[in-house]
Amino acid sequence: MITRMLGCSVKELEAAAEIIKSGGVVGIPTETVYGLAANAFDAEAVRKIFAAKGRPADNPLIVHISSLSMINDIASYVPPLVGDLAKRFWPGPLTMIMPKSEKIPLVTSGGLDTVGIRFPSHPVAMRLIGLCGVPLAAPSANLSGSPSPTSAKRVFDDMNGRIPAIVDGGESDVGVESTVIAFEGDGVRILRPGGITREMLLEVCPSVTVDSGVLNEISPDAVARSPGMKYKHYAPKAEVRIIRGSLEAYREYVAKNAQDGDCCLLFSESEAVGGVPYICYGKSSKEQAHGLFEALRVLDERGAKRVFARCPETDGVGLAVYNRILRAAGFCIIDSEVQE
Ligand code: AMP
Ligand code: MG
Repeated sequence: MITRMLGCSVKELEAAAEIIKSGGVVGIPTETVYGLAANAFDAEAVRKIFAAKGRPADNPLIVHISSLSMINDIASYVPPLVGDLAKRFWPGPLTMIMPKSEKIPLVTSGGLDTVGIRFPSHPVAMRLIGLCGVPLAAPSANLSGSPSPTSAKRVFDDMNGRIPAIVDGGESDVGVESTVIAFEGDGVRILRPGGITREMLLEVCPSVTVDSGVLNEISPDAVARSPGMKYKHYAPKAEVRIIRGSLEAYREYVAKNAQDGDCCLLFSESEAVGGVPYICYGKSSKEQAHGLFEALRVLDERGAKRVFARCPETDGVGLAVYNRILRAAGFCIIDSEVQE
């Protein structure tokens, strides 16, 4: 199969919509990361997404909408908080889990009786969903297990020959996948942190719980609230270690341990350790979210064997950065302050 790169002209978006309407899969831009989109109601089409990614069948897909009224065909029940949350955060990087309707095939929901719904804010995603006239099931457009793509080029790197087309809508703005929430009591539980932060959700919800799976390893046999969290994710080929502690302790650790083939993953150049190669991905949590996945891919291109990563903050969007880098590191955290 030849993978076509499409721009955002009306003609090209119509061509992309035509592929989706006839049961195909297209790489599409969203404000979080690029997605692999198919008609969420069409089980055969959705199976092609799983095949292209090599995604485990029990890992559910998020269903994307371009108008609130589309929810009624997707969810069998809409929890009372959805209205206020949608008003405040949609279109945007928030996925809400609701009981699924009969129209959503089990293959889309990974066998669950619930479905995650999101209204993306990327203008091209919105236009495409509108042109298709159906909600689009769309997981991140990477091969299963590798870092999510934040540009059309990175989708092409993973999906060339596997899907008929990719729409190039520029770099994804947020850079990490959406915040996933489930409804619980009078509030919500964060199953996956993202661009809509705990602090922002608290402006609308009486209570916000962060699921233990966000910061802790889930065994592959366990029943996870958010199935994606149990898989090794976002992992570059390099062995990543998160070095927790002050900048001084980080520098000391790297100076003592670095060998040929190692690379530092830093927030800014000023943190560099003499002679050890490095990549920087941003000073603020927002910049880090935007740049993390691209940085992980660049590390692989450079052939880094081991990566010493500085430890992100855990508040605001930093929680999403920390959650992703923890998985990229296979939960390997080193406390540099207590190193001999
Ligand atoms: P991706 O689209 O690749 O970012 O993955 C979507 C992720 O959202 C999944 O891996 C799950 O962790 C989460 N998710 C989607 N639908 C549900 C659902 N019905 N229940 C719980 N988690 C969900
Ligand atoms: Mg993904």
